[in-house]
Amino acid sequence: MAGVFWHLGNWSTEEPKILGPMDHAFWLGSVIFDGARAIRGTVPDLDLHCRRCVQSALNMRMNPTMTAEEIETLCREGVRRMGPEAELYIRPMFFVRRGLGASQPDPDSTEFILSIYDSPMPAPTGFSAITAPFRRPAPDQAPTDAKASALYPNGARAAAWAREHGYEWAVMLDPDGNVAEFSAANLMMVKNGVVITPKPNGTFLAGITRARIIELLRRAGREVREDIVTPAMLEDADEIFATGNFGKVQPCTRYGTHDMQPGPVAAEARRLYFEFAETARILPKAV
Ligand code: PMP
Repeated sequence: MAGVFWHLGNWSTEEPKILGPMDHAFWLGSVIFDGARAIRGTVPDLDLHCRRCVQSALNMRMNPTMTAEEIETLCREGVRRMGPEAELYIRPMFFVRRGLGASQPDPDSTEFILSIYDSPMPAPTGFSAITAPFRRPAPDQAPTDAKASALYPNGARAAAWAREHGYEWAVMLDPDGNVAEFSAANLMMVKNGVVITPKPNGTFLAGITRARIIELLRRAGREVREDIVTPAMLEDADEIFATGNFGKVQPCTRYGTHDMQPGPVAAEARRLYFEFAETARILPKAV
């Protein structure tokens, strides 16, 4: 896999070997990350991803050693190095090297690493999903205000459970039993032309793509409601789709036993997103 990596002031095309058994990040999971994308020379909402990266570090009591603006400049440089045709995943991370006392991370040993690597955009061909019996934690049960790596094993076991039951993706509920999100993307459903998406309650990542799609759909005249979504509402939805940095907008074509065609609203959201992406062009189009 081709990529470029920035760590301690140096660019490399080799993956830096950075962690050992005495590192707090490796041992006790003091790691946060963000994920943005370059799509053939455009990088939508890069500034927001860089700001969220720094905020996640602060919320995890780390001492971010880079500003959002510095991270953004590095990301642009990395995308330039990879070239205008590439489809890239852009992953800035903060991690902590040393511990204080028994298990506390020492904020002053926070380090930054940036990885930018080839990651083709998935086609919007549709996916199947089912609600998994593993829920998103409440904010007083896990650091849900950070994009912390430590939150992901819970999503991974939900996704594994879905796969074991013949589905590709998992829907996760919040502690009250309402729909929160997919295990690694936000969820929107459509009923009678109205888009309904779970109202942020601190239990799930209210994503940057989600916010952008809400804004674009509303600006295009479509009603979007942020509200409680129940699993029963998903059974009865006209459309369900996922929003997230990895696949941007992806239609769900089977929820449980409920089959759906990729719908017009998901297609509209996707088209609006890719039109918006053109305004974030940082490299000339490849000829
Ligand atoms: N929820 C989770 C758990 C995620 O990992 C992601 C992907 N970052 C999202 C939602 C979507 O967020 P965003 O649109 O900011 O990528």
